[in-house]
Amino acid sequence: MRDLSNDTELLSLNAATVRKRWNLSQIIEGCVRHNITGIAPWRDQVAECGLAPIAKQIRDAGLQVSGYCRGGMFPAADAATRRDNIEDNIRAIDEATQIGAECLVLVVGGLPDGSKDLNDAHTQVEDGISAILEYARKNQMPLAIEPLHPMYAADRACVNTLKHALDICDRMGTGIGAAIDVYHVWWDPDLETQIVRAGQNDQILAFHVCDWLVPTNDMLTDRGMMGDGIIDIPKIRNWVERAGFRGQCEVEIFSAENWWKKDPDEVLKTCITRHQTVV
Ligand code: ZN
Repeated sequence: MRDLSNDTELLSLNAATVRKRWNLSQIIEGCVRHNITGIAPWRDQVAECGLAPIAKQIRDAGLQVSGYCRGGMFPAADAATRRDNIEDNIRAIDEATQIGAECLVLVVGGLPDGSKDLNDAHTQVEDGISAILEYARKNQMPLAIEPLHPMYAADRACVNTLKHALDICDRMGTGIGAAIDVYHVWWDPDLETQIVRAGQNDQILAFHVCDWLVPTNDMLTDRGMMGDGIIDIPKIRNWVERAGFRGQCEVEIFSAENWWKKDPDEVLKTCITRHQTVV
């Protein structure tokens, strides 16, 4: 297991973590100021500041881009919307390529409006991925399916376990893998086995960290800082690294009532300290 005790090289900041008080350009400056060497921007943040200037700022800052957030959201109630979603994913691949991302993260989408047909949603997800995979391969942009916690199955992602994500990857072939976020997968009794399996096929494309608070007061925006919750993060990191993952640990915290309200410089300092001590 890699030693993080003095590390900032293996730390990447998911830009959602400080998105309420800084725009993306300020977040990049913040990373440089604090010697954080990786970033994972969101499409809306990039659009706000402009793709070309942001790509240049990231390059000039020498930041790695541990992932681009995000593509996916494939299922829809009608064919026209499904086609729009695919075109939007093609644009996301272009942006991820221009920004130099190591992967495009896919949050695959949930049930279409009015649907109770989970199998159909699964099929639509695979159809959507199939429709963009060749383009992603041509651009050498790996697609990273991020299984989300099952509480999001209806509205965000109907792929909820690493096993399901890897089953899809195996059916798709090359150019696709998984983003493993401890927040979404910590509860899974099959996690270690599936991480070993992913490692055998070089399918671990990203590793995201934060913590699960007890109680959790909001399904979306009450994630904890590493060390403040109940996830054994070092255990999972050890599994992931034993499986061959050599990328950065990406800190991704949505926290409306706590971290989003704090001074972002303080948040970054805390991310670094926790990365070095409890990740
Ligand atoms: Zn994540």
